Amino acid sequence: MELPRSLTDEGILRYGFHGLSYEYIASTLPQHLGDRADGRVIVAHLGSGASMCAMKDRRSVATSMGLTALDGLVMGRRCGSLDPGVVLYLLEEKGLTSEQITSLLYSKSGLLGVSGISNDMAVLEADSSAQAQEAIELFCYRAARELTALATDMAGIDAIVFTAGIGKNSALVRRLICQRLAWLGVDLDVTANERGIAHIQSTASDVSVIVIPTDEEAVIAAKTRMLTCSV
Ligand code: AMP
Repeated sequence: MELPRSLTDEGILRYGFHGLSYEYIASTLPQHLGDRADGRVIVAHLGSGASMCAMKDRRSVATSMGLTALDGLVMGRRCGSLDPGVVLYLLEEKGLTSEQITSLLYSKSGLLGVSGISNDMAVLEADSSAQAQEAIELFCYRAARELTALATDMAGIDAIVFTAGIGKNSALVRRLICQRLAWLGVDLDVTANERGIAHIQSTASDVSVIVIPTDEEAVIAAKTRMLTCSV
């Protein structure tokens, strides 16, 4: 983090979240990508909470979340990346308490705050109002921007994986994100994207795009089994 070294030394670091999901996805990459599994892969875990993880050799090299689950992408109720000066402004100028700011940033922002309608992507997709459409657009814009930043970390991308509730189920969100990534060589097969099963890139795409349902429970079960067998 961009803070004085004394603070990072005491553990204020970018830890990231959704590790169980990323571990599961990493374990399935060879069956979907063959040799490309060990290339430069960005996994987009887009659910009520949303984050991205850049992987090389199926190991995380960068992530969108930080010390807390607030950073990075726009989420159902969480704001994602925010000018830290906004927090100071709310505190000093608006007189909000730290509890009120916590509630604002964790529970009243994101898709819910922007749309004023719902934190639920499926509900917003079914709503034709300008506010709902604006919230969806913002979600996709910020996702594409984050994905591009992570691609820079790895000097390119070989594959993108969409997972979690929105990543797995929303053809619209996948399309709006990938449209913004055309300059990176990302191109979707429209029909495959609507079906949303496994590979959804077109034959012209330089980048593989895959939909993989995540299974965090399977990772928890496997780790619990390992633990109980070792005691
Ligand atoms: P999760 O936290 O992974 O369970 O994901 C929850 C999110 O996935 C919510 O925003 C849901 O609205 C969204 N979601 C689930 N199904 C769909 C769907 N068919 N279309 C759009 N969003 C969906």
